[in-house]
Amino acid sequence: MTDGYPAISEQLDDVETARQEGRRKMDWARQHMPILESLREEFETERPLDGERIGMAMHVEAKTAVLVELLATGGAEVAITGCNPLSTHDDVSAALDANDSITSYAKREVDDEEYYAAIEAVIAHEPTLTVDDGMDMVAAIHEDYPELIDGIVGGCEETTTGVHRLRAMDDDGELKYPVFAVNDTPMKQLFDNVHGTGESSLANIAMTTNLSWAGKNVVISGHGYVGKGVAKKAAGQNANVIVTEVEPRRALEAHMEGYDVMPMAEAAEVGDVFITTTGNRDVITGEHYPKMKDGVLLANAGHFDIEIDLDALSDLAVSEREARDGVHEYELEDGTRLNVLAEGRLVNLASPIAMGHPVEVMDQSFGIQAACVREIVANPGEYDAGVHDVPDDLDREVAEIKLVAEGVEFDNLTDEQREYMGSWQHGT
Ligand code: NAD
Repeated sequence: MTDGYPAISEQLDDVETARQEGRRKMDWARQHMPILESLREEFETERPLDGERIGMAMHVEAKTAVLVELLATGGAEVAITGCNPLSTHDDVSAALDANDSITSYAKREVDDEEYYAAIEAVIAHEPTLTVDDGMDMVAAIHEDYPELIDGIVGGCEETTTGVHRLRAMDDDGELKYPVFAVNDTPMKQLFDNVHGTGESSLANIAMTTNLSWAGKNVVISGHGYVGKGVAKKAAGQNANVIVTEVEPRRALEAHMEGYDVMPMAEAAEVGDVFITTTGNRDVITGEHYPKMKDGVLLANAGHFDIEIDLDALSDLAVSEREARDGVHEYELEDGTRLNVLAEGRLVNLASPIAMGHPVEVMDQSFGIQAACVREIVANPGEYDAGVHDVPDDLDREVAEIKLVAEGVEFDNLTDEQREYMGSWQHGT
């Protein structure tokens, strides 16, 4: 196991200033996270996580930090690192590391070796629970430290790609402890993936480039939860939305929404902005670049930086330069310039001024995370090794807290309605 990989506090020159700035960001986020605030009151009194050690690999920015402190408030010792080399806010990481119950190894702009050394440093805390965004922590434990698995009660996974990987691992019989598919709950998927990624991806592309959406042909690859959100918000900003898909029902859904649907080979010729949201690899490749117009923007909102084939683009380019902060320009032989944002990593979290999803949305996603961590610890015998859906009552609990916080009232079923909905005997 990697020995001595330094926590963030040992890596920064002016750690005090960083801590203060990080704390300021966290205070702001916390003010807008009523679900986590409500759980905090419960965790403070009941200390449901006393004695647990939680290992986390997530996007270390202000909202995540509020979750991390909540878990510490519940009694856990937490060790955390990033789940992407570009998404960490060093000041927030430093503010977390100042908490006696938390060690943060997350740092922005680490290379591959440092990224995995930081994951190993978290694992060296011998976690009893894992909380992942993308499954890198679960993978590292299973591959390199299987002796720790007996001591792990369970885990939580935040994103679609992580859940896909976990289900594949489970299908192969290789997942050796229970993990909740937090991504798949309505309270996460219908809000975080759709609205959160939709709003924050478009906002970050606009801020990084200082360019407008209106009148642009915006090609969105994938019409899943994320793609639908990006498409809806782009259309709302007067862009002409073009969708590429490989799944016939999703392609049809996009068509019925009024978007143009076509193969990437055709979309490449007309797009002004390309945003990949598939969770798949090689969506935009060497066959597409020569067809593209001068000045196009290429961005990815999927979890890994494999959707836009940058090696192929580099091979085709005669020159490369930083056109702006966070915008890398590739010039092709005919003079066409193609601009890649945030190195093809998830644009809403990895561009230079990225702040990730809106706070309110992450309050919901992290409310589910916290409720799932509490559930695994409270009922360890209930869950076998493998991927588990989040119990519906937990999802409803979080929705109800949010509705109260928003001042929204809603109806309840009457006894007669409940009986009717549960009965097969009532016909015409
Ligand atoms: P999803 O499964 O609902 O949607 C993905 C869609 O992409 C599917 O409809 C699929 O048919 C389509 N697709 C697959 N390969 C394709 C290809 N080659 N060309 C065109 N379409 C293709 O998944 P989702 O919840 O929308 O998540 C998508 C990705 O976004 C995942 O990697 C997820 O982890 C990530 N994600 C990112 C953020 C963020 O903050 N940027 C937030 C949530 C999820």
